[in-house]
Amino acid sequence: MKYDYLIVGAGLFGSTFARLATDSGRTCLVIDKRQHLGGNVYCENVDGIIVHKYGPHIFHTDSEEVFKFVTSLVKVNPYVNTPMAHYKGKMYNMPFNMNTFCQMWGVVTPQEAMQKIAEQSKCIKEIRNLEDKAISLVGKDIYRKLIKGYTEKQWGRPCTKLPANIITRLPVRFTFNNRYFNDRYEFIPDGGYNSLINKLLEGSEAIPGLDLFDAKGKVFDMCDRVLFTGRIDQFYDYRFGELEYRSLRFNQFTLDEENYQGVAVVNETWGGIPYTRRVEHRHFQQPKEPVKKTVITEEYPASIKETGEPYYPVNDEKNNAIYQQYKALADKEEKVIFGGRLAEYKYYDMDDIILRAMELWKSELNR
Ligand code: UDP
Repeated sequence: MKYDYLIVGAGLFGSTFARLATDSGRTCLVIDKRQHLGGNVYCENVDGIIVHKYGPHIFHTDSEEVFKFVTSLVKVNPYVNTPMAHYKGKMYNMPFNMNTFCQMWGVVTPQEAMQKIAEQSKCIKEIRNLEDKAISLVGKDIYRKLIKGYTEKQWGRPCTKLPANIITRLPVRFTFNNRYFNDRYEFIPDGGYNSLINKLLEGSEAIPGLDLFDAKGKVFDMCDRVLFTGRIDQFYDYRFGELEYRSLRFNQFTLDEENYQGVAVVNETWGGIPYTRRVEHRHFQQPKEPVKKTVITEEYPASIKETGEPYYPVNDEKNNAIYQQYKALADKEEKVIFGGRLAEYKYYDMDDIILRAMELWKSELNR
C-alpha cells in the first residue's frame, strides 16, 4: 500500500484526523472535490480583507484540549461575536438579553422583563414545536419580530413544523450581556482559517479538485484504510433515499467604504427580505494595511436542488431514520470509517468536530 489512510474531504474533520495520524507516523492521502482545501472554513483574501467564503466561522469552545490543540498550530486573535438583528428599520441586540428586552418593551429591570415574557407566554400549555418553545422562552413580540421570519427563511418551513431544540442553541439571558456564545474561549485564527488547514495537512499529500466518485477504485486501492467525510447517502448511492439538507447561496460584493454596518453580523429577521444574514468580514479582523473597501456577503437560504451544496442537516424523524439505515451499513465496513457533519448527518460546531476527530483517532489506535 502506498498510504496508510485515504482521507476523503479536506474540511476540518478530515484535516484534523490527518494531523493526528501523521503525528503518529502514518501516511495520509487527502482528497477533496472542491478546487481548494479547507471545506467550509476556507477563506479568501480580497483587497487585504479576509473573507469567510462559506459563512462566518467563529471558533468557540469550552474545551481546554481543543483550545491548546488549535493554538499550538496557529496564532489566534480573540474575537467576541455580538451580532445584531434588524427588523423593519430597528436594530436589536442578540442573543436575547436585557438589551433586547429594553429595546423591545422599554423595560428596565430583569423582573420587568420576566413579567412581560410571562404575560406573553401564558397561552403556551404544551411545547409541540419551535413556535411554542420560542414563545415560552421570550414571549410573542420577540418571537414575531426576531425569530419567526428568520427561522422560516432559514429552514424553508413554518416554525410549527420545526423541532423545538433548534431555538435552544440561542442563549436567553436576564443580564446586559451581548455575547452570542457562552464558551470560555472564542477566537479566529490570525489571517483566517487557511493557515490552520495548512498546518493540519502538513506532512500529508493533499489533492484538491479530485472527486472520490470519479476515482474510487484507483485511490481506494492505494490505501490501507479510508476516512470518508462526505455525504453518507451518496457513498451508498442513495439506496435508502436522499438525506435532506438545507443549503445556502452567498451574494458577495465589495463597497468603497470602511465600515458599512458597524458590526460583523446583522441578522435580517423580517420574512419579507429573502436573506437571513449580512456579514461584513473586516469586522472579524481589520486588514493589516488601511484600505477604503469593505466586503459584504448576504446569505440566502436555499434548497439543495438550487445549489447542490449540503449545509444544514434536517434532523427530523424521517431523515434521522434514513440516516440510521445508512449507519447500519457503515458500521459493517471493514476498511472505511465515517466522520464529520456530512458522514454523521449531524450539525457539529467546529470544536465538536475536532473532539470527534480526536476520538476517532483514539479508536483507530486501539484497533
Ligand atoms: N434564530 C432566530 N433569529 C436570529 C438568529 C437565530 O430565530 O436572529 C434561530 C433560528 O431558528 C436558527 C436558530 O436560532 O436556526 C439557531 O441559530 P444559530 O445562530 O445557532 O444558527 P446557525 O449557527 O445554525 O447559523
